[in-house]
Amino acid sequence: MKTCELFQKKTVLSYEVFPPKRTDAVETVYSTVAALKDFSPDFISVTYGAGGGKATCDATLSIASFIKNIYGIESVAHLPCIGLTREEAENQLQRFQEAGIENILALRGDMPEGGTPAGDFAHANDLISFIRERYDFNLIAACYPEGHNESENILDDIRYLKVKTDAGATQLISQLFFDNDYFYRFLERCRLANINVPIEAGIMPVANKKQIERMVTLCGVTLPKKFSSMMSRYENNPEAMRDAGIAYAVDQIVDLIAQGVDGIHLYTMNNPYIARRIYEAVHRLL
Ligand code: FAD
Repeated sequence: MKTCELFQKKTVLSYEVFPPKRTDAVETVYSTVAALKDFSPDFISVTYGAGGGKATCDATLSIASFIKNIYGIESVAHLPCIGLTREEAENQLQRFQEAGIENILALRGDMPEGGTPAGDFAHANDLISFIRERYDFNLIAACYPEGHNESENILDDIRYLKVKTDAGATQLISQLFFDNDYFYRFLERCRLANINVPIEAGIMPVANKKQIERMVTLCGVTLPKKFSSMMSRYENNPEAMRDAGIAYAVDQIVDLIAQGVDGIHLYTMNNPYIARRIYEAVHRLL
């Protein structure tokens, strides 16, 4: 099934998992997926390390295929195009298609330190057009409520987002954010820019301070005062930090659902315990 069809019926709840480190077997993620299947996923997406080569593609493919073919849950395979040639992209897409995967999150990927790698795609919209011309996948794209960290300003970023939906992206998933007001302002700007596809809110429950510091450096998201206070108070108490992180994420989700958001995409960090606590708190509201 094409996941874009889900939004006509309900508020979508989806989860994201990532392949294990290279030293671990791909099967280590299967127990996470087995747990997530009890939390009514509308779909589960699987990340893909940009520039990671064949082993990375194999891991994403195996997990996305497992989700779809063993559990019958719709899966989304991420595909970052940075450094890929057309031929490599074609090869990977062919394998996704043969595995029965119908949904691709088409991305550029982060710029590696030391400059742009050689490859045939400059931006995600190039990959989206390339796939649209050759395949029948449902195409999803990434969006950034506070603007992408390379963008001069949010309006430029939204202009390029429109290029992605015009090229064929039928749904969007947002980067994480901790202040819902950024997301609501972003939605308004998207609608004004005539971006009318469903936009899921990406929510990351915080499990520890280090994880957040990494995210802030990587994505440049704003930390509201109440969030920073929470982290300072509980940074030396991992269980309290985890519980406070869950409560914060639930509070964000309740507000988003009440405001009529299209869907919630939970960055699970492969932690089914946290996903379960959040699911139990919000599933009757969907
Ligand atoms: P683009 O849409 O190409 O945008 C990148 C920058 O270029 C933006 O500043 C944009 O404004 C600008 N831009 C866009 N189009 C043009 C254009 N035509 N001309 C000029 N400028 C343009 N990374 C991974 O490696 N693997 C993953 O699995 C992964 N999953 C993700 C899932 C989600 C939901 C999100 C939000 C991000 C994910 N990322 C992943 C991170 C993503 O790859 C990075 O944020 C990356 O830096 C940008 O990717 P993009 O597809 O948004 O790029």
